[in-house]
Amino acid sequence: TQVYLNGRFINQQDAMVSVMDRGFMFADGAYEVIPAFYRVPFRIDQHLARLDFSLSSIRIENPLTHEQWRGVFDQLLAENAGEHQSIYLQVTRGVAADRNHLWPKGLVPTVLVMTSPLKMRLDESLSDIQGITAMTTEDLRWKRCDIKAIALLPNVLHRQRAEEAGADEAILINEQGQVTEGSSSNVFIVKGNEIATPPKTMPILGGITRDLVIELLQAGTQYKLSERMLLQSELRNADEVWITSSTKEICPVTMLDSQPVGNGNVGPVWHDIAARYQQYKLQLAAD
Ligand code: PLP
Repeated sequence: TQVYLNGRFINQQDAMVSVMDRGFMFADGAYEVIPAFYRVPFRIDQHLARLDFSLSSIRIENPLTHEQWRGVFDQLLAENAGEHQSIYLQVTRGVAADRNHLWPKGLVPTVLVMTSPLKMRLDESLSDIQGITAMTTEDLRWKRCDIKAIALLPNVLHRQRAEEAGADEAILINEQGQVTEGSSSNVFIVKGNEIATPPKTMPILGGITRDLVIELLQAGTQYKLSERMLLQSELRNADEVWITSSTKEICPVTMLDSQPVGNGNVGPVWHDIAARYQQYKLQLAAD
């Protein structure tokens, strides 16, 4: 497997970073995950714009131009295995001479890009898709979850806790009893004709998949779409719950805190949006 590290394409086993890298010492960096279907990066402009936002928010200058990023992705996608791949990129503040919270001037950011084979979830007949289980848990994170920062300790602990309780994803609830997002996904609910998801004014990651789902819903459906605060009680009483992410796509949640969501089956509104998303994806691939 080839990876890109600081300007070179090398074997993954040979990719080494100093222990003095601020990513290792302080989780001082940002990342992106970009799905590539049929070896073509999906919604790449949106992902690169979010990378610019994350890096400027933590005061790291983007070390590559968008053109250069695309070139790196294309080379890795061509050389690595997988018709569909997930691109992981990480930029840290770089390697410092000593361990100090303050960063010295003139650091050179560390840049890593790698890919892994991706299972495209929504490629089979949609009626074969099974729902997943989720559990709610207290959101323990900081106030800047809009930055895609590499510091993921709370997310890791939330996800591990869910796994050990037999759930596939943790849905996070803030101190006011409101839904924020999943440990690595955004959350939507359906109730009657309304589809609702927490607004980006909350401390959540603005998911690229979330935005696409909203775009598709606004383009040609009759549902009432709301970006609004969702109470935990609304989540529990929803007809349908979905989580979205680049690698999970749009995923129906059919069990929540050991109770069925709605009637416990994958719902009709999910089928509708999943078909639209699928069509959009295949259309792009065909272009
Ligand atoms: N929220 C969090 C905390 C995430 O880590 C992720 C992605 O992994 C998402 C939401 C979904 O974002 P995207 O759709 O851009 O993958």
